[in-house]
Amino acid sequence: MTAGTETITLADAERLDREDPLAGFRDRFLPIEDPGVVAYLDGNSLGRPPAATLDRLRELVTREWGTGMIRSWDRGWLELPERLGDRLGAVCLGAGPGQVIVADSTTVCLYKALRAAVALRPGRTELVTDTDNFPTDRYVVAAIARELGLTVRWIESDPRAGVTAEQLAEVVGEDTAVVTLSHVSYRSAYIADMAGINELVHAAGALAVWDLCHSVGAMPVLLDAAGTDFAVGCTYKFLNAGPGAPAFFYARAEHHDRFDQPIAGWIGARDIFAMAPRFEPADGIRRVLSGTPPVLGLVGVEQGVEMLAEAGIERVRAKSTALTRMAIELSERWLAPLGFTVASPRADEVRGGHVTVTHPKAESLARAWIDNGVIIDFRTPDGIRIGLSPLSTGFAELWRAMDRARGVAA
Ligand SMILES: *Cc1c(COP(=O)(O)O)cnc(C)c1O
Repeated sequence: MTAGTETITLADAERLDREDPLAGFRDRFLPIEDPGVVAYLDGNSLGRPPAATLDRLRELVTREWGTGMIRSWDRGWLELPERLGDRLGAVCLGAGPGQVIVADSTTVCLYKALRAAVALRPGRTELVTDTDNFPTDRYVVAAIARELGLTVRWIESDPRAGVTAEQLAEVVGEDTAVVTLSHVSYRSAYIADMAGINELVHAAGALAVWDLCHSVGAMPVLLDAAGTDFAVGCTYKFLNAGPGAPAFFYARAEHHDRFDQPIAGWIGARDIFAMAPRFEPADGIRRVLSGTPPVLGLVGVEQGVEMLAEAGIERVRAKSTALTRMAIELSERWLAPLGFTVASPRADEVRGGHVTVTHPKAESLARAWIDNGVIIDFRTPDGIRIGLSPLSTGFAELWRAMDRARGVAA
């Protein structure tokens, strides 16, 4: 991209856009009708709307809901959670069919997955996670520990990196029931060694539950190959499914006929319309469901996953890496002299889809960047996350944002 100490120029960035095989996808998002916006660099928190989602929603509301009415449940709505789960599994999770289902929020899915995993390891008394895991994950772990009288073993993770296999090896043992970690750190974007950690967890006789919120849609995830037991993640970040769109839940096939989740509901029952006196779970992944599937949100998931399928997850990862590398290079050249530090990994292989820079005045600077049209987010205590969505973000867009940001920070 750049030779030696040369700074990347706007012309370089424009050339990268011309050579980008995914450039055409940028026009498939609804335009940002705000001339003040220089760049949207927060797709890792909320992806932008694909234009197709609006068309599909209109069709769903008028035809399927408005005209098909309740008959539409039998014309495909009821199968959506499994059908889209299979698509996610094939397109970006490395999961064979029948192991992924779309439901609830990530928080609720994580609660269900952890309870299911703990129940598969009776007699074991410890849950393992890390101090810098995403708040909802830490809260759910602590709540389950209180509820079931378990102990939480906290790994002290480095906020500029994440949990390593070495750290994990020190805390897992015969008392460990379940280990739960984020695959990509929401703070630093560090990618944890999923397969290596799973191996340690299994050697101790425990189970692994992964949160994929910051990896899904930005990089290939290989759940089956890595030996993951359970995983959850959201669809409204790099998958562009829309605010509050439902999450997904992965359960490895070998656990299917033995796992229970704690929110037994009629939609997860073996025969929904038998109205049976007692709950009997459906076979397979469908037992994860509790209540009525959120059809409007599922439409957003469908558009997001199909657009990703067209782009190809390998190409998405390649562009993601190029964008984050450019963000790091420009941060070092332009922001470091202004007191910023890059707090994401330099090595491509362990860096996910965003770049965090820290600064003692990050909170007020983040506000100033946003006021100047550079939409990023602030993460306490001192981080600004620059999120790069490969399908909707361009190289020149990023360049202009970094240029504006340094002007505001100076
Ligand atoms: C965004 C995110 C969540 C969000 O959970 P919700 O239930 O959708 O609010 C959970 N975990 C991680 C790691 C996240 O990045």
